[in-house]
Amino acid sequence: MKRIYLDHAATTPAHPEVVQAMLPFFGESFGNPSSIHFFGQESRAAVDEARAMVAALIGAQSEEIIFTSGGTEADNLALKGIALANRQRGNHIITTAIEHHAVLRSCRSLEEAGFLVSYLPVDGYGLVDPDEVNKAIRLGTILVSIMHANNEVGTIQPVAEIAAIARERGVYLHTDAVQTVGHLPVDVDALGVDLLSMSAHKLYGPKGIGALYVRRGTRIAPFMHGGGQERGLRASTENTPGIVGFGKAAELARGEAEAGHLAALRDMLIQALLQGIPQLHLNGHPSQRLPNNVNLGMEFIEGEAVAISLDLEGIAASTGSACSSHELEASHVLLAMGVPAVLARGSIRFSLGRSTTEDEVRRVAEVLPRIVARLRAMSPLLDRRPAPG
Ligand SMILES: *Cc1c(COP(=O)(O)O)cnc(C)c1O
Repeated sequence: MKRIYLDHAATTPAHPEVVQAMLPFFGESFGNPSSIHFFGQESRAAVDEARAMVAALIGAQSEEIIFTSGGTEADNLALKGIALANRQRGNHIITTAIEHHAVLRSCRSLEEAGFLVSYLPVDGYGLVDPDEVNKAIRLGTILVSIMHANNEVGTIQPVAEIAAIARERGVYLHTDAVQTVGHLPVDVDALGVDLLSMSAHKLYGPKGIGALYVRRGTRIAPFMHGGGQERGLRASTENTPGIVGFGKAAELARGEAEAGHLAALRDMLIQALLQGIPQLHLNGHPSQRLPNNVNLGMEFIEGEAVAISLDLEGIAASTGSACSSHELEASHVLLAMGVPAVLARGSIRFSLGRSTTEDEVRRVAEVLPRIVARLRAMSPLLDRRPAPG
């Protein structure tokens, strides 16, 4: 069976050139970048080159890039590092109800340590109102953390507008840009952010490597202590193969113009499914959304059952975030958007990627209506009694 992969928001395959670039650093080029000898210097040069590539992708300076073990660690470093370093200035943090768990659970742990966190609401499209951010900032607010685009519903936040407010009020602005870097143009100066999280495996790089952009002059404390690597902010011997792979993925992403192509396929899939399936709802914003994201709410059935049925037909999709796919709870993102719990549990996400073709989209448009009809026919949620009167 030729399988169709439509879960690129969960992870992407490493590009063959990425794999090629990494290989020598598992073998002959194994030196520790901190070593003074040839072996060390060879690795140091490769790390420096990769850092420059990642920086260039987001319009940053090399020294503003801190490599981490992934997007999760970048989020943890941003939240906890800013909280710890700015405690004398205040103990209040602002975020939203729809962040990735890497941000939400970092906030929960900071609350346990005595910080106060405001979780801003979103509207029915998943959008944060910049006015709400302005109103929430008070004496003692040290950080606003708002994701660039949501991983479940794809809604893109007005980060530049929010960052301008934060800057005017003297508060740091962090954005989790894991879903946008390498997919949409992202420039730290145009956005006006102080901190920005990225993850290589979401942009055709390897897993286990990410980075936090930290604007020069930002007061931040390390949360991993040791040998002083990454400007003292993230000790431990560098993951040289991972960093080199991330650098190559960043270099390749700069030359990619996937957004227009993907947005056309995305809209084709949305239209076909809305036409082919009754009582189907598009979750998220109709236009202010990631070019690769399709998230649909299906009345009367469970998203989990649909994902399993699709998998049996060779189509890989997801019920929302990969991290919550084993928890049968409704998505915190959809609930925050005001989607009723029963409809939130009936959601399915298709996330397209560089390899996605029109044929694949047509196949989904043909298979999904059949699956939904079969599951609805046996759904206890569907009331089949004739309408009274
Ligand atoms: C995938 C993802 C993360 C986590 O990144 P990892 O590299 O897997 O730790 C964080 N935030 C968002 C929005 C994501 O989509």
